[in-house]
Amino acid sequence: MHGPGDVRVEQRDDPEIAAPTDVVIRLAATCVCGSDLWPYRGIEPVRRPSPMGHEYAGIVEEAGSEVRSVKPGDFVIGSFMASDGTCEICQAGYQSRCAHVEPVGANGAQAEYLRVPLADGTLVATHGQPDPALIPSLLAASDVLGTGWFGAVAADVRPGKTVAVVGDGAVGLLAVLAARELGAERIIAMSRHEPRQKLALEFGATDIVTERGDDGVARIKEMTGGYGAHSVIEAVGTQESMMQAIRSTRPGGHVGYVGVAHDVQLPGDELFFAEVHLLGGPAPVRRFLPDLISRIEDRSIGPGKVFDLTLPLDQAADGYRAMDERRAIKTLLRP
Ligand SMILES: [Zn+2]
Repeated sequence: MHGPGDVRVEQRDDPEIAAPTDVVIRLAATCVCGSDLWPYRGIEPVRRPSPMGHEYAGIVEEAGSEVRSVKPGDFVIGSFMASDGTCEICQAGYQSRCAHVEPVGANGAQAEYLRVPLADGTLVATHGQPDPALIPSLLAASDVLGTGWFGAVAADVRPGKTVAVVGDGAVGLLAVLAARELGAERIIAMSRHEPRQKLALEFGATDIVTERGDDGVARIKEMTGGYGAHSVIEAVGTQESMMQAIRSTRPGGHVGYVGVAHDVQLPGDELFFAEVHLLGGPAPVRRFLPDLISRIEDRSIGPGKVFDLTLPLDQAADGYRAMDERRAIKTLLRP
């Protein structure tokens, strides 16, 4: 990305093993993230031409001398945050905030090859070479599925609970799927876009609310006997969506917020009397990967349906444009 709205596909040097804990993978698929749209739209600054992309699935090409858990030829999926897997934060399940964390996106996963640092604490191999039809779903596990799943876990989704999801991008839609898998009784998707509503229903939503802001909050209250939802997942990252999530949650309930926050200011007095649990941040996707990969391999979930546009890597700029104009939910790129 050279600047807002300016994505070019260029020849860069092939990545090489830089540390003995690195691997280099050959990507089977990569994609454009909703968070890539923040710099694309000029909301985050682009200070210099930057390699893009942090979602990846592919085959290990070369492994550093200290890598033990994966080997050349393995098909692997990893988180967008590389983690050592051994520090106290990783051991507690918060690998995305590892004491030695490295953002994989800095290396640019929208590419043919990618260097992944801290391979043992970051990557998970599939059980044998996957059916090519499963690759979009495995790729989704790298971020949007893992992030939606963390949103649901952070919002304490459990059997019998009523869950509301704010945001109908890929993460919000997959939070709906996660809520269903975790046994929620009622799942309210907040969306005003017909194709996204359809996918939400397919993923397990029981209700759709088209109102947003205060009207959306009023609808959630009305549907829950005036109480608010037990669990609310926030998957946008704006002031409006965060307040909509907090206000839709009943006292004692839980908000899981996974939309990357942009200029969100929480009013302390309102927060005090809301009396809700708040947990969010960059999802520790690595915690969930083994379970998510198994669910995809046995075909009990199909998160790859969020990719409604597939393009060759050299048309990446078109993939960004389609998402920016909301013509596509999520673009998969084939190197
Ligand atoms: Zn760690």
